[in-house]
Amino acid sequence: MAKQVSPFHSKGGEVYHIYGVCASGSIITKKNKVAGKGNKKLCKACVDIRAGKRPR
Ligand SMILES: [Zn+2]
Repeated sequence: MAKQVSPFHSKGGEVYHIYGVCASGSIITKKNKVAGKGNKKLCKACVDIRAGKRPR
């Protein structure tokens, strides 16, 4: 089971992430990383991780 982290998103992104292992979440640079959901949708990859489709 992947470990969930506090929601975070990218300044210019359209989604937020809840997993540190999320590929699109982990490429967000520190400069652009913002804590919180930012009124955005949950990232699709994070949804899959939560559903157990993507281990790690
Ligand atoms: Zn994600």
